Amino acid sequence: MAKKLIAGNWKMNGSLAANEALVRALIAGMVDDANVTVAVCVPAPYLGQLQMLRAGTALELGGQDVSAHEQGAFTGEVSAAMLKEFGARYAIVGHSERRQYHGETDTLVADKARAALAHGITPIVCIGETLAEREAGKTEEVVKRQLAAVIHTNGHCISEIVVAYEPIWAIGTGKTATPEQAQDVHAVLRAQLRAATPHPERIAILYGGSMSAAHAASLLSQPDIDGGLIGGASLKAPDFLQIAAAARAQQA
Ligand code: PEP
Repeated sequence: MAKKLIAGNWKMNGSLAANEALVRALIAGMVDDANVTVAVCVPAPYLGQLQMLRAGTALELGGQDVSAHEQGAFTGEVSAAMLKEFGARYAIVGHSERRQYHGETDTLVADKARAALAHGITPIVCIGETLAEREAGKTEEVVKRQLAAVIHTNGHCISEIVVAYEPIWAIGTGKTATPEQAQDVHAVLRAQLRAATPHPERIAILYGGSMSAAHAASLLSQPDIDGGLIGGASLKAPDFLQIAAAARAQQA
């Protein structure tokens, strides 16, 4: 079983003062244990602040996106090498908000995952269906297609990624997938990964979509749910810590 991972996605939220208060509260409440990794994926301008705040603690750091390119004339982009310099361990790639508002395709997402892996950054590859796709019975087809692109581009390195299943209809809506709905999709993804790598057990498959302290335990108790990618609730230290505690309880 992969180590459980609880990763916060701050999205475009924060300020120097708010970040400091949040991270200090997280660090004060965190339990450093071998079974659960806790990470925050922050807006790029705050990477330096987080690098300082988390120094010497178990809190891990991630970016919310990464360029598919190494360096050069790509205004506004942040490279994997830059993330690495700030001590980031993770980079979210293919978040549905990037796919929706920035036109990111399956191929671009796969290339971003490759760029991250080339610099020792673990891509948290987000996949998930819209409500219309779910209602049309296309969930499995959509998530398999999205994951297949990443597998195709990354070959044997696929065992180094993290997958986040995030049904788009559940993101930021307060509508969490039921544990059964999430588990069904996670099992499909697990089978797809098993066929792609001799080391599928290394790959954590996270659930994301309105995961809250109230819903965390039932989701995290599912056999193929290895953690969570948390948006809104990661901005409140007590909620985020409670989700991490629910993950820890599953490992006990
Ligand atoms: C996300 O942004 O990845 C997310 C899951 O958001 P929320 O938890 O707010 O639904």
